[in-house]
Amino acid sequence: MPDAIATPAALPSAAPAEPAGMTLPDAPALAHDEVGLLAPLYPLPRLELVEGHGAWVRDAGGREYLDFTSGIAVNAFGHAPRGLAEALSAQLARLGHCSNLFAHEPGLSLARELAEATGYARVFFCNSGTEGLDAALKFTRAHALAKGLPGRGIVAFQGGFHGRTGFALSATYNPSYREPFEPLIPGVRFAPFNDGAALDQVLDADVCAVVVECVQGESGAVPATRDFLQALRARSTALGALLVLDEVQTGMGRTGRLLAQEHFGVRGDITVMSKALGAGLPIAAVLMTENVAATLSPGMHGCTFGGNPVCAAAARWSLAQVRRPAFLERVRRAARRLAAGLEQLAARHASVREVRGLGLLTAMDLVPGGVEPAALVTAARDAGLLLLRGGERAVRVLPPLTVSDDELVKGLERLDAALTVCEAVGLAGSSKGGGKS
Ligand code: PLP
Repeated sequence: MPDAIATPAALPSAAPAEPAGMTLPDAPALAHDEVGLLAPLYPLPRLELVEGHGAWVRDAGGREYLDFTSGIAVNAFGHAPRGLAEALSAQLARLGHCSNLFAHEPGLSLARELAEATGYARVFFCNSGTEGLDAALKFTRAHALAKGLPGRGIVAFQGGFHGRTGFALSATYNPSYREPFEPLIPGVRFAPFNDGAALDQVLDADVCAVVVECVQGESGAVPATRDFLQALRARSTALGALLVLDEVQTGMGRTGRLLAQEHFGVRGDITVMSKALGAGLPIAAVLMTENVAATLSPGMHGCTFGGNPVCAAAARWSLAQVRRPAFLERVRRAARRLAAGLEQLAARHASVREVRGLGLLTAMDLVPGGVEPAALVTAARDAGLLLLRGGERAVRVLPPLTVSDDELVKGLERLDAALTVCEAVGLAGSSKGGGKS
């Protein structure tokens, strides 16, 4: 690679370059039938994946796919990136785990490198996005207590997603995720996203924190506006409330900057990173200012595994990739190509209502009553392209940050073919007068 990015060679592709007219299996290949032993929390059938390199992944039946899900924005450097396994096995052979009762070199180095790269003063390590948000929201209440703020209210936003555990779930908007588990942690109120005028009604003296995504990922790549995030920053500061930026999905270069907040000219009091940080190993970093850290004390919070030597080594490896000269410029260039390609598809396909996103966090929003997002994901899979749903009507397109021009072209061709198939099915249905089944 000219700019020395650790991009592995693609698997020698057995997948056809031209998806139209392919003869494909109806159902994904499963080599094992134990899937019935797993708790029924994900839709079936689940494609069984066996191995991957870069943007390519192979299923148990030997079929190859372009993976534009990136393990839900985790595999920023694709599958099995060159150098990662060596870095991890060397660390595992030396010191794999020791708990946070002890300090260790990978964790301390990672803390220093994150501070240098992001400008945040301190960090708490845990294992996942939801744990990071739980910790961040606990810290905001500890801060409120220490500073004698009058209220403990937390403002979150409609469409926001922050995770599935207690505090993070309490701040997640989608009622179907929350309602089965109520009562949740009290004190969270939801405001309309990107509506600066509505802030007057929700941001009052009872509020000790605001939590927001710079781009709402699970809702289908909906970017905040600059004015909105700046208004949130200004009003939080005026109230003495903390601004928590959830960069679990947007961080680590996904939007073409190390942190998406750089696009908006705002900084949080707390920023949470996860997903791509560990390049596939579980780690989250809760970054904070000195002001926040000063209100925490030993025993207030903790985590057995958080940032253990192996996960810290993974995060050091991935941070080093993103900080290489030209890496982010290359992501921004790929993002422009992807956006242009998706806009062309939108112009040709009546079923697409909107293309949106930031950097390589993109989505196609589908016209209501037309092609169903789940049908498009299935048709794309059958055409050799893995995509993700997002929000009500969107399909997310999340290639690895190391995606090549050729892979982008192939992915767009396959998406084009999938849209054509879905629209043809819709037309066939309506010509029979029955509409879609
Ligand atoms: N916050 C955001 C913005 C996310 O997109 C996600 C997951 O998709 C989470 C938090 C939760 O992360 P995890 O699934 O690692 O718990």
